[in-house]
Amino acid sequence: MEEELELFDYMATFELTKEYALQLDQEDLIASFRNRFLFPQKQGNPKTYFLGNSLGLQPVSARLAMAKVLQQWADNGVESFFHGNDPWLNFHGLLVKKLSEIAGAKSTELSIMNQLSVNIHLMLVSFYNPVGKRKKILIESKAFPSDQYAVDSFIKLLGLDPQDILIEVKPIGENQVVQDEDVVAAIQQHADEIALVFIGGINYYTGHVFDMKLISDEAHKIGALVGFDLAHAIGNIELNLHDWGVDFACWCSYKYLNAGPGAVGSVFVHERHHLDTSLKRLTGWWGYKKEDRFLMEDTFVPEPDATGWQLSTPSIFLYACLKASLSIFEEAGWKNILAKQNKMKGWLKFLIDDITSLEEAHIKCLTPDSRGCQVSLFFQDNGKLVYDQLTEAGFMVDWREPGVIRLAPVPLYNTYEEVWSFYEALKSILTSSSFKP
Ligand SMILES: *Cc1c(COP(=O)(O)O)cnc(C)c1O
Repeated sequence: MEEELELFDYMATFELTKEYALQLDQEDLIASFRNRFLFPQKQGNPKTYFLGNSLGLQPVSARLAMAKVLQQWADNGVESFFHGNDPWLNFHGLLVKKLSEIAGAKSTELSIMNQLSVNIHLMLVSFYNPVGKRKKILIESKAFPSDQYAVDSFIKLLGLDPQDILIEVKPIGENQVVQDEDVVAAIQQHADEIALVFIGGINYYTGHVFDMKLISDEAHKIGALVGFDLAHAIGNIELNLHDWGVDFACWCSYKYLNAGPGAVGSVFVHERHHLDTSLKRLTGWWGYKKEDRFLMEDTFVPEPDATGWQLSTPSIFLYACLKASLSIFEEAGWKNILAKQNKMKGWLKFLIDDITSLEEAHIKCLTPDSRGCQVSLFFQDNGKLVYDQLTEAGFMVDWREPGVIRLAPVPLYNTYEEVWSFYEALKSILTSSSFKP
């Protein structure tokens, strides 16, 4: 494992040369894991893929993992659940073992099931309990739209009016970032009205990493529950969900976890809630106490851990894809991945700083100096033109109206040299004589 430095310690040692990028790649302990992924190509060369925040790349091993499930199905039919080298009933246990380090959770606190927006609804059933005056939900404004729709429709389902229930913390200042202090201030201001605090751990638009421990502590101090949507955080930054005391969390597995389009999602439910019979929940047979599940009794008895929230027979195909990816995380070592993530973010920020300091560039970095792969660049004008030229040059990045390019170099498969080439390309576009902002 590499010694982990703070972002700024790294940035102080960097040099603004391509040779330095190559040296960083030379010293990279997990550089070889790039070969475990398949890259979109342009004229026989891999494109520079900085979209791991959107859809992580396909592990080479995913195809074999899927083929294995097909073969088990062919060979043994339904008996594949119980027999053979890798019975499907053991699959969930294998996955949570691998995922628990990444989530900072006990394996009993994880349930791998459904997809993210569905799981948000299931978690709201259990953890949003409006009583008397305490009925508000605190969220960040400009949360990912699906989260907004889910919360909104859930409130209406209960016969309540979202206008009365939602407290939206808005960004103050021009960087469009909802600040931790403002979340804390809103929690304190509405101390006796908030039932639930529900925030995205990393804002998808700005890349800001919320201080989840702080927010969790503050929510609990006023007697509210707290949940996080970790779509942009899982597999990206260090999480300690158990120790932070978070009540619940949920995420998808197709962004930094590379488990493929529509991959199976997960929830975290803190163990303090596992045996709480006062919690409401929607139930299905797959959450039934394991030993007795196949007795097919009438009254529901949940498995006494997070898997008690499961509803349906899991998709073994989706489990197989997730397992292929989590095995790579395990092999590379989560601590090594985090160390490279931090260093690569430092490298990207170091190079971006050089560009934003150019008078003529008219761009601004929205992302605060925190961990996480993503950087969001705001272009005052002609952002779409810059995006088109970057795309033309083989860079796969993301465009958001009205003027934001998001990019996320990922430690498992991107290189320091790729970050350098992006810097060179962007600088050359912005300073070329034909480009007039
Ligand atoms: C990606 C993302 C989603 C997507 O939800 P799905 O149900 O997986 O389609 C939802 N919320 C956030 C914050 C996201 O980043």
